[in-house]
Amino acid sequence: MLRARDEIRAECQPLVDVEHAQARIRSGQVGYDALRVLRSCGDPMPYFTRVLDAFEVAGFLSNEDRRSLLQSELDVDDLVSGWFTGDRTPRDPSRRIARQAAIVVGNAFLRSASAMVEPASIWRGWTRIVCPCCGGFPDIALRERGAQRTLVCARCDAQWRTPHQGCLSCRTVDEPTIARITNVEVGYDLVMCNGCGRFLKERPRRGIESFIVERALTTELDLAAEHRGLRI
Ligand SMILES: [Zn+2]
Ligand SMILES: [Zn+2]
Repeated sequence: MLRARDEIRAECQPLVDVEHAQARIRSGQVGYDALRVLRSCGDPMPYFTRVLDAFEVAGFLSNEDRRSLLQSELDVDDLVSGWFTGDRTPRDPSRRIARQAAIVVGNAFLRSASAMVEPASIWRGWTRIVCPCCGGFPDIALRERGAQRTLVCARCDAQWRTPHQGCLSCRTVDEPTIARITNVEVGYDLVMCNGCGRFLKERPRRGIESFIVERALTTELDLAAEHRGLRI
């Protein structure tokens, strides 16, 4: 699965005006228009097929389900733009896996674009809630030593630090407006703000491997938060 993602990242050619993006970020604006960059990568279908193959090899999907997904009238563009506009995780397992495959493709495209803008993975001096590169919201927060947290963009995996605790949107730190549910099995806290309706998945940084894997392991947390009407 990681190999499929790395191949897509190596092969896709997102169109990004790197200097323009860097200048915008220096002045506190989001670097590039993510939807336009996604479209510049062309037809996602061949990549999507490759990710489904990888899912089958990894045991996430049976051969039969993979075939029926490919034969169904699946619109991968729709799946990618649905992910983009923040639609909900489908409860139907086969639709959920199709959406996950589309996310792997979209993430590989945008990650590759963001790496063109800044090869180092962590942005310094960025203080907004949204990603400096693509404007996406973070879905994962990694607790560092001290009080800082590193935020990870749900779309492109860019990372930046924040000194703020609690909700990033409304800055509330008080319980019970902020509800924290610890899931020992996956090693994450689901941190939800009942004030503005946003959530994050939070864990200590140590032992982190790949965000693709982390997200695949924590889909249940997204479902639980979305079920409460929350979004990232
Ligand atoms: Zn981003
Ligand atoms: Zn809030």
